[in-house]
Amino acid sequence: TDPSALRPGVKLRPEIAALPPYRQGRAAAPDGYKLSSNENPFDPLPGVASAVTAASDFNRYPDATALVLRGKLAERLGVSVDEVHVGAGSVSIIAQLVLAAAGPGDEVVYSWRSFEAYPGLVTVAGARSVQVPNRADHGHDLPAMAAAVTEATRLVIVCTPNNPTGAIVTADEFSAFMGAVPSDVLVILDEAYVEFVGDPRAVNGIPLLGHYPNLVVLRTFSKAYGLAGLRIGYAVGPVAVLDAARATAIPLSVTGQATAAAIASLDAEDELLDRVRTIAARRDDVWRGLNEQGWAVPKPQGNFVWLPTGEHTTAAADELFASGLVVRAFPPDGIRISIGEHESVEKLLSITGKIVQNLP
Ligand code: PMP
Repeated sequence: TDPSALRPGVKLRPEIAALPPYRQGRAAAPDGYKLSSNENPFDPLPGVASAVTAASDFNRYPDATALVLRGKLAERLGVSVDEVHVGAGSVSIIAQLVLAAAGPGDEVVYSWRSFEAYPGLVTVAGARSVQVPNRADHGHDLPAMAAAVTEATRLVIVCTPNNPTGAIVTADEFSAFMGAVPSDVLVILDEAYVEFVGDPRAVNGIPLLGHYPNLVVLRTFSKAYGLAGLRIGYAVGPVAVLDAARATAIPLSVTGQATAAAIASLDAEDELLDRVRTIAARRDDVWRGLNEQGWAVPKPQGNFVWLPTGEHTTAAADELFASGLVVRAFPPDGIRISIGEHESVEKLLSITGKIVQNLP
């Protein structure tokens, strides 16, 4: 018998003891490519790196309210500084908002598949996930999501472009959805990849904020701005809701280095958005290449593509991995592949071309 089974265990919340930790992308081999975490493949800009180095007073606690950064964001977005909240990555703000809105007995509605962190964050809050299947075209089924809202619903999370399928929510779909959801139910519009969107029909949450008292828009510096390792993202929305997020936040988790990098990135925005255009064009090339090979890949709008490999997902991901490409497998549905370095594209398409021929 396993000796640990005889030892009395520490009493943990059973649902937490059963909860696996967040799954991180594997590292790539030195000659391979890490295409598993939707990171920005460009090296940090020298000006951003020197702003991080200059933030050297780290014997002191940071201004974790990030007031200077919030002021800069508020000015750009046309909102007040208290309508902006900064967190250590937008995922930490999702956690804060889930805790603020939903507890035991409450429900949180979101589409599935969507961002892998949502289910765990709902469980941590003690609430219950209500997952609404995506449409056959891999987009959110917003009418079904609105219909899934009950008396017990405290939060709905809408992700556009959706991680991992890349589909957008249109402005028309979103306004119909907001009209159908009671105005006392919080809605998070997770726009982590908004800067990569090419489709003009896509919703943009910021101009809608004045219309809906229950809407919070989430954005991040991790993807388009290339600051994933520094952990900084932000929410824009009603002050009362953001105050509740500030109340559930772990104190002082946004570092001065991250804030300095975000400010320097906004100052270098033109250059960074040029890079975003390069990545979006590369993404469209990959999409065209995959479709020419016979894949039915939905038109991607983030910095990643979705390969619907179905029951062959694990085998296909292993084949990509063996060739030096680390991707994110979501068995039994598909594989999410980040748009990475220019050199990774040819390699990717040569392997997917072989895989598609071996599919039954
Ligand atoms: N939302 C979505 C949809 C994401 O894909 C991610 C990152 N994978 C995040 C939020 C969190 O990003 P971060 O915490 O780095 O801001």
